This record gives sequence, C-alpha cells and structure tokens, in this order.
Amino acid sequence: MIHVGIIGVGTVGESVAKILRDNRDIISARAGKEIVVKKGVVRNLSKARGVDIPLTDNIDEVLDDPQIDIVVELMGGVEEPYRVVQKALRNRKAVVTANKALLAYHRYELQETAGEIPFEFEASVAGGIPIIKALREGLSANHIESITGIINGTANYILTKMMNEGVDFEPVLKEAQELGYAEADPTFDIGGFDAAHKLLILASIAYGIDAKPEDILIEGIERITQADICFAKEFGYTIKLLGIAKKVGGYVELRVHPTLVPKNRMISKVDGVMNGISVIGDKVGETMYYGPGAGGDATASAVISDIIAIARGGKSSPMLGFKRPLESGLELLEKESVVSKYYIRLEVEDRPGVLAKVSRVMGEEDISIETMLQKPGAEGSASLLLATHSCEERSMQSALNRLFGLESVLQRPVMIRMEE
Ligand code: NAP
Repeated sequence: MIHVGIIGVGTVGESVAKILRDNRDIISARAGKEIVVKKGVVRNLSKARGVDIPLTDNIDEVLDDPQIDIVVELMGGVEEPYRVVQKALRNRKAVVTANKALLAYHRYELQETAGEIPFEFEASVAGGIPIIKALREGLSANHIESITGIINGTANYILTKMMNEGVDFEPVLKEAQELGYAEADPTFDIGGFDAAHKLLILASIAYGIDAKPEDILIEGIERITQADICFAKEFGYTIKLLGIAKKVGGYVELRVHPTLVPKNRMISKVDGVMNGISVIGDKVGETMYYGPGAGGDATASAVISDIIAIARGGKSSPMLGFKRPLESGLELLEKESVVSKYYIRLEVEDRPGVLAKVSRVMGEEDISIETMLQKPGAEGSASLLLATHSCEERSMQSALNRLFGLESVLQRPVMIRMEE
C-alpha cells in the first residue's frame, strides 16, 4: 500500500482525491498496489470540500508522517512550496507537483536535492497532455530541433474568439472571466508569464537549458486588435500566443509572444481553451500533442499518472531528462539576437510623405519590407500594415523606437512576430 499526502485540496487536489477514489480499480491494478490518501492539507478547515479525506491545516503533519510515501504539492506559489517540497525530499519522501511557477524558478535546486528520490511534475505543463513523459522518454533518442506550443488555454480562448467572432480583446476577456476561464487578475495568463514558466520546464528537458523567466523574451496578447486580425485573415494567418524553443546552431532561443502562424499549420487549428504542442526531433520528425491544458480532472489525470509511476517502484528517469550534462552544452541565445519576420501596425496621420519617412527608418535599420497595406482609420488617420523579411530583434526594436518618435506616428507601433 502507498500512502499519499496532498498539500492543497483545491481545484486540482480535490480532483486527485476523487479520481483516486472513483478509479480505484484501474489505478490499483496498474500500480500493483492500493493508493490511499492519508491526509490533505488546506488553509481553511471550515470550508466544505467535495471529498471525504482526513484534513489538517498543519503541513508538517504530512511532511513528518513516517507512513506517508508521496507528498503531492498542489498549493501553488513559489517560495512557500519550495520550502515544503525541499523538506519533503529531505525527509526522503517522493514528490509530485503540478506547480509550474515553482519549477520555473527552482527546478535545478530541486533536482539536486532529489537525487535518487522520485520527483515528478507531468501536470505542470499542458495539464492533461503527457508532454513531459513524451519528451523525457518517448523522444529521448532525438536532438530536439524545436518545440512550438499553445500552452495557455486562457490566452488561446481569447484569441480564438477574437479571430472567429470579430470581437475586441476587452469584452472577450470579461466573458472569459465570467466563464471561469480567466482569473480575476488575468495578467499571468494574458501577459505570457504562465506560458513562459511551462516553456522553461520543457526547454530543460529538451536541451538541458537552465534559464529563468527574466532571461527570456515574454510578450502578452493585450495589444492585439481587430485591425491585426483583419491583416492575419487577409494574408492567410491566424494569431496564437506561442511558446517557442528552437535550436539554432549551438544556441537555444526561448520566447513567448503572440505570433502570426500560417492557417494551414496543425497548431493553427488548436482553438479555444485547448492546448497543442508540436515537437520536431531530428530523427522522428514532427510529432504533435493536443488536449486539455487545465481543469481539475484533466490536471489530476497527469498528477495520478506520476503517483502510479512512483508506486510501481524505482526511479526510471532523471527528473529533468539528463543523467549527465550534454557534452556540446547549448547556450541560451540572447533575446536581441533572435531572428524573425515581423508584422507591424502603425497608426499614422493620413497625409503625404508619411510612407517615405517610415520606409527611410526601416531602410536605415537594414529591415526590408515584404508587404505593405494601408487601411483608412478614424478621421485624418490611417493604419499602415507592414510585413518584413527576416531581421534581428535588436534592429526591429530600434526601428520601433524610431518610428514611435516620428511626429506623424500617433501611437506606439504594434509588432507581432511571424512564423512560417
Ligand atoms: P487552488 O484551487 O487555489 O487550491 C490551492 C489549495 O492549496 C487550497 O486547498 C488551499 O487551501 C491550499 N493552500 C494554499 N496555501 C496553503 C498553505 N499555506 N497551507 C495549507 N494549504 C494551502 O489551486 P489549484 O487550481 O488547485 O492549483 C494548484 C496547483 O496546480 C498550482 O500550482 C497550479 O499552478 C497548478 N495547476 C492548476 C491547474 C488548474 O487547472 N487549476 C492546471 C495545471 C496546474 P484552502 O482551500 O483552504 O484555501
């Protein structure tokens, strides 16, 4: 028999306890053992719970219980769960977590403490999709060329609605909050930070890269408007918030941003709250993973798969996928050196000479324009929509600053990167 302590019996913790009860037959047959929740930890003991498990508000009752074999951390946060999980490992308990924020900051220290003690985190990226096991085990023979993921359901829901129904960002966000798809404070999801945490976890397993959120390019979807969506539609693109990890020579680029993606790519068809991840390996080619990226039951499905793997015995995989460092160590490419094609929207005064000034700035920054479109705007103004050939991020940022400085440019330019 395996005893589990669940720290945090909220949306995911409650589903874990319920599924362990409801699917007891299949789970115990697959694990070869009964799995029993010995205790759950919450802050508020008087709140009604949907499961009948012994509860406490004292985390140490789980961490110091010699009978508990696996600590399941589902409380959220960064520093507090870090201390909790460190103590669990020091007490030689296996750990399972769904906490991407914790791993985005502390995965290498945790790997160090864990050593041979099992530490699993399948639910931390893309909820119910088994992407960690796919990368760590299924694709382990490959050099990973790229990972391209829609790994935040809230942002994808908003962008899908904006694309399909022609509605603006603010009303869709409000609707997503009413439906429970977006938090009261949605910054984390729509600002790209949640996707960045997940991308960092995937990048560690794919490339052995130790980076923190501050080290990578992160942009959200807040400034996308229907004007950008019209451009996307006209030129056969869709707009997705993508997490991209790409090997470029001896470097790895990591970035999260809204992206114009050709409509015919498989990832463009991942709509609504669903997640989708494309992984290209040098030997296997492209593989694609699709499914629910959040929600109590879908996330608990991944958490329990980790519990079962541990209950089966032994530790088969190193936590972050590498038994020893890669000989030809890969380095993180600095943000400014990322090369991409770009779309730019400029709100300008509708008068002669503006186009020439814009073209001069682009030319001086060595950026060549592939397509240009002008749409009439509000009185006396126009939207200039440009698509560029590939150039470095540093040239683009410099051009954007200079364009914003032009008298005839009325607002900060909107820029969206393009992927082919
Ligand atoms: P949640 O509904 O807010 O639940 C958190 C639980 O932790 C609550 O039961 C809370 O107690 C308890 N808790 C928090 N701080 C505590 C403390 N200091 N001491 C004792 N108990 C404490 O969160 P959730 O949505 O289940 O998410 C849990 C984790 O899973 C997070 O790391 C999240 O990022 C990750 N995750 C969630 C989803 C999802 O769809 N929800 C998907 C993937 C990953 P009270 O109930 O008494 O407040």
